[in-house]
Amino acid sequence: FLEIVEIEKNFGPHRIFDGLSMNVEEHQVVCLIGPSGCGKSTLLRCINGLEQIQGGEIRLHGDRVTGPGVDVNALRRDVGIVFQSYNLFPHMSVLENVLLAPLKVLKMDRAEAEDRAMALLRRIGLEAKAKEFPDRLSGGQQQRVAIVRALAMDPLVMLLDEITSALDPELVSEVLNIVRDLAKEGMTMLLATHEMGFARDVASKVCFLHGGKVHEEGPPEQIFGNPQQERTRAFLKRII
Ligand code: ATP
Ligand code: MG
Repeated sequence: FLEIVEIEKNFGPHRIFDGLSMNVEEHQVVCLIGPSGCGKSTLLRCINGLEQIQGGEIRLHGDRVTGPGVDVNALRRDVGIVFQSYNLFPHMSVLENVLLAPLKVLKMDRAEAEDRAMALLRRIGLEAKAKEFPDRLSGGQQQRVAIVRALAMDPLVMLLDEITSALDPELVSEVLNIVRDLAKEGMTMLLATHEMGFARDVASKVCFLHGGKVHEEGPPEQIFGNPQQERTRAFLKRII
């Protein structure tokens, strides 16, 4: 469904991906793990066209989404992304944040877009906050709004980059629960995470990035329970 084929990525002289390949099947939740700087964020950014690759290709639903001639705007309609810092527009209400892309990009009718946005906010228990500005919400609430703002585009796949790492510990679970619900509903997701317990719980597959490649991949039981590669073992030993 999402195919990453032998990609190469450099930042100046620095090689980040050296023939990295991986696949995300439809309805799968794939977790990217690995040390800081291994390229988790960069990989997500390459998938939705925020970064260019220098070799290989990425395909979504059979269509090439990297290289010349790609319609990045169309790509971003299909690929939802949520970052560590919630990035809500501070000068817009919660509702306006969720409405913006459906109105501007999908040219959706306002009444219909509002109905859908309110339904999404209801889902995450924030209907009552629709008219508030983001700074009146907790970090966890803002991050939940950021997730439904991405969902409002009805994406084919969601990319989530360390979406809980800027949150106070007591707010982490409310955000992870939304991701868990999305997983149950069959949303295809690729997420970079430091939450190993969560990865173990929700992932269909875990990919350990090292040396510019997927160094080891497998079901969470294997990666966390019985990693085959020395590097994977060493990484997990350090962080758990
Ligand atoms: P973390 O766990 O800390 O979020 P990460 O796995 O997400 O790390 P990336 O942010 O993808 O790592 O960074 C991968 C490498 O690319 C790092 O060495 C980083 O310094 C480098 N890098 C990232 N963005 C840029 C950029 N815009 N220009 C130059 N180098 C960059
Ligand atoms: Mg990162």
